[in-house]
Amino acid sequence: CASANPHKVAEIASLLDGVVELLPRPPEVGDVVEDAGTLEGNARLKAAAIAAATGLPAVSDDTGLFVDALDGAPGVDTAYYAGPQATYAQNRAKMLEALAGVPAERRTCRFRTVVMVVYPDGSELQVEGVCEGTIAEYERGERGFGFDPLFIADDGDGRTFSEMSEAEKNSMSHRGRAFVALAHQLRKSIGN
Ligand code: IMP
Repeated sequence: CASANPHKVAEIASLLDGVVELLPRPPEVGDVVEDAGTLEGNARLKAAAIAAATGLPAVSDDTGLFVDALDGAPGVDTAYYAGPQATYAQNRAKMLEALAGVPAERRTCRFRTVVMVVYPDGSELQVEGVCEGTIAEYERGERGFGFDPLFIADDGDGRTFSEMSEAEKNSMSHRGRAFVALAHQLRKSIGN
């Protein structure tokens, strides 16, 4: 896994449901600069670097939040919306400011996650997960991270992701859907 974060690796492993054994990124492999300009490109950069360093198939994910009233921003730059060192709280504050006065029906958006597996021979497997939603007018809830306090999924019941349990969020989230799709593809490819 291109992530070295044990919590994220455990979450992905559980979404992959035991189809493969998932190892965290080895400590000697450093962070990859994500400058490809697209989610696909960034996911490929990360997975290819780990596959090259380890000789093992590597998986990575990259996510963006695409807001219709902002012409698709922040998109691939979601993590850095309010600046290169921006905190999650600063990114959310900038979003609320950018959408000030925009009515609920025009606050539509989607999270999109691209998951990429790169094999040591250079071949690739790519899947994606999308979660449609709207940006809330104020923050609600305590759980999660990033834009969770502002994201109301169309498939939910009006609560933000921050007001849901992790399992509830995973059942409809972009990343949850992408990794369930990956588990399906991997099962097919290994005939399981
Ligand atoms: P990453 O590619 O997973 O690092 O995601 C990029 C950015 O998108 C993060 O810094 C978060 O701001 C935002 N993001 C990604 N996934 C989620 C999520 O599930 N909830 C809220 N924000 C998210």
